[in-house]
Amino acid sequence: MTSEFDLIARYFTRPAPAGMLGVGDDCALFSVPDGHQLATSTDLLLEGRHFFSDVDPASLGHKALAVNLSDLAAMGAKPIACVLGLGLPELDDAWVAAFAKGFNALSDRFGCPLIGGDTTRSTTGLIISVTVFGAVPTEHALRRSNAKVGDDIWVSGELGAADVAYRLLAGRLPQDQHRLEATRHALEWPEPQIALGLALRGVANAALDVSDGLLQDLSHILKASGAGAHIEYAALPVAEGLRADADDQAKGARIALEASALAQALLGGGDVYELCFTAGVDRRDAVLTAAQHAGVNVTRIGRIRATPGITVTDQAGEHLDQLPSGFDHFQAI
Ligand code: ADP
Ligand code: MG
Repeated sequence: MTSEFDLIARYFTRPAPAGMLGVGDDCALFSVPDGHQLATSTDLLLEGRHFFSDVDPASLGHKALAVNLSDLAAMGAKPIACVLGLGLPELDDAWVAAFAKGFNALSDRFGCPLIGGDTTRSTTGLIISVTVFGAVPTEHALRRSNAKVGDDIWVSGELGAADVAYRLLAGRLPQDQHRLEATRHALEWPEPQIALGLALRGVANAALDVSDGLLQDLSHILKASGAGAHIEYAALPVAEGLRADADDQAKGARIALEASALAQALLGGGDVYELCFTAGVDRRDAVLTAAQHAGVNVTRIGRIRATPGITVTDQAGEHLDQLPSGFDHFQAI
């Protein structure tokens, strides 16, 4: 029978980089470069809450680390290492092998070695907890509290796909295999924007990663910075898999996806893991250079203003009322 120790040895014990002590002792050891602060973040993923029970284990391994790396990206931190807590209902060797494959591939790609963790049997479904450690030059972290009135608001990548995929899988949108295929990758294989976070150091004033929905997450920046924001709906980068829907609506043609579902996905959809950040108007070229450097698209979607709250206007300048809310674990049913 496979034991917990066999599993750790087989799938989670990998040579630690020089200067680090990895899996195998009571603690892992690593240091932070001189002149840097340690950035750390943790995320808990629960079966039935954050992922479907039948999700591909490789994508789950990927996502468990990706959402944490995304927090480092949003802080402008460079990954150092990570630890993994696993609560498993059973020791299913093939499942753990696939999970580890997805996890380790991303860990290798971003130079974020797994240096420790804990493994236990769970009586209530799968529990995954990842903690990441990163380094950011002292006083140069991209904090939420530093947005300035007049700043442009930017977002990386595209919006909406993960939310639509989630709703399709949860049966909250009418079944549509084509649309699911066009959006599912965004939900299951998010790409942490580490290179962009690093390139935005000294360029962006405030940043975060969009995990619970653009408006809700932006409101965290606004609260921390004591400001408000205006967003132009037509400027939002619509995910490729949803563009046909957006075009149909603009033309007033048969609406494939309800306008309200699209607005919900763009403004309120979670699981995006793109960066939303603010930067001075005089930094537009610097932002575009940073994005080019990182190989990602960035889009200017609005402005920071002094008046509190968020307003969203459409192409005609009309205010969108009934703005969707983001995801709140204690409010959602
Ligand atoms: P302890 O009893 O001291 O907590 P464990 O027996 O739980 O030690 O773990 C032994 C070693 O294996 C430790 O170095 C720990 O960090 C590592 N480890 C345990 N589970 C995992 C995991 N899921 N991923 C990575 N390392 C792990
Ligand atoms: Mg332990």
